[in-house]
Amino acid sequence: MSLIIDTVYFITAAVFIIGLKQMSSPVTAHRGIVWAGVAMVVASLATFGAPQIALDIGSINLQLMLVAIIAGSAVAYVSAKRVAMTDMPQMIAMYNGMGGGAAAAIAAVELVKLSGGEAGGMGHGLTIQILAVLGAVIGAVSFSGSAVAFAKLQGLMKKTLRLPLHQVINIGLFIAVCVFGYLVATSSPVSFDHVIIFFVLAIILGVMLTLPIGGADMPVVISLFNALTGLAVAFEGFVLNNAAMIIAGTVVGSSGTLLTQLMAKAMNRPISNVLFSSFGSDSGAAAEEDIEGSMKEIQANDAAIMMAYGQKVIIVPGYGMAVAQAQHKLKEMGDLLEARGIDVKYAIHPVAGRMPGHMNVLLAEAGVDYDNILDLEEINPEFPTADVALVIGANDVVNPVARSNPDSPIYGMPILDADKAQNVIVIKRGKGSGFSGIENHLFYADNTQMLYGDGQKAVAELIAGIKQL
Ligand code: NDP
Repeated sequence: MSLIIDTVYFITAAVFIIGLKQMSSPVTAHRGIVWAGVAMVVASLATFGAPQIALDIGSINLQLMLVAIIAGSAVAYVSAKRVAMTDMPQMIAMYNGMGGGAAAAIAAVELVKLSGGEAGGMGHGLTIQILAVLGAVIGAVSFSGSAVAFAKLQGLMKKTLRLPLHQVINIGLFIAVCVFGYLVATSSPVSFDHVIIFFVLAIILGVMLTLPIGGADMPVVISLFNALTGLAVAFEGFVLNNAAMIIAGTVVGSSGTLLTQLMAKAMNRPISNVLFSSFGSDSGAAAEEDIEGSMKEIQANDAAIMMAYGQKVIIVPGYGMAVAQAQHKLKEMGDLLEARGIDVKYAIHPVAGRMPGHMNVLLAEAGVDYDNILDLEEINPEFPTADVALVIGANDVVNPVARSNPDSPIYGMPILDADKAQNVIVIKRGKGSGFSGIENHLFYADNTQMLYGDGQKAVAELIAGIKQL
């Protein structure tokens, strides 16, 4: 029987990897998600054939598992159906956390079994005990850290919170987690009290690590927790001797690590800096003091003329475009401009929006041609030759203060050079700041004009204006 299960795991692992590969392009991403989902269902069903799970419906364990699976699936199905596209990042942070929490819970069960002198899931050796502890600490940190990230993205708590002596406390916590982790990993029988203290400390460490991180560093942290969750699941897969968990965890861990590196590169910041430096704190006030110029308003008709009589328009979408769901109108406007012979391009910053690939997904959904969607390095040299940079709901990713003010929380982050275009039109509703909460010098620049209003409504007005010409 176990040969059949292992074969099923092997095939589903291959399907996971193919699914993941398909997710790398917007054209095949939907198919990739369906394939990976089906593989996960098959792997879960196969697990019921394992000898440890006697398929006896009278067994309390089996009943508990079925209740948990049905309840979890129902909650996930309803919440995923209902979630607004703008709330997706919170949902991802929460599911990351759940994965880490599940891995930590598995470790907790195995370690508590050992504290009662009982043999754990697979007859424990020291190596397995160490792996359980490693998976436990990584999973617990990822669980509580993701919960804090969720609360920040949901607006339930302050973006950055730094206690007095924060880093000193963190170092103390880290040492304490290592000491108790060592005790739990090496003693036999394991002390129940040590297990409890170890988990509580690891959970607090996750909270403390994430509290001060805010501003433009959140994307890096979210993808880091994603990677850690994968790693924790893989470690616990070794503990339970479960090939599916090892493979799925390793795949998530390695792809999450790659994503974390890409995001950190996009922010121009080593991961250690994100986690341990004082970046991302609320020092925006320093950036606000020395703003020169004033905000100038433009009407939709004038903005439409400016674009329609130009030769090149670069559209810079940001989080506000997602809020306004303006992507379809943008595509319609882009088509109109192209029909007039204007070169229209879309500039995507790696951390625009609230999740990696957020803008790409929305523009792809609206049917924008992929060849016209360009990354930061590709598009930046083109801004000086653009007649208009149309910034819609983007703020932090076009804030020139990132280049000029070392006191700014986003200093050092590469930005889209929208300010270098001949004219900049910024669509936003009012004076709301971006995620990092700081003023944007671009809005006060001589070549910038503000088109106030909801993104979708403003683009509809631009379309009407272009059609009149
Ligand atoms: P920002 O969050 O910097 O700015 C969004 C702007 O959109 C606001 O200034 C707001 O101004 C405007 N806006 C909001 N609603 C609307 C609407 N309905 N119509 C028009 N405008 C609207 O967005 P960016 O995309 O520039 O930057 C992303 C930020 O989020 C970065 O700091 C990034 O680090 C962070 N982040 C990114 C994640 C990712 O993975 N991509 C994850 C977590 C955080 P107003 O209220 O005046 O309309």
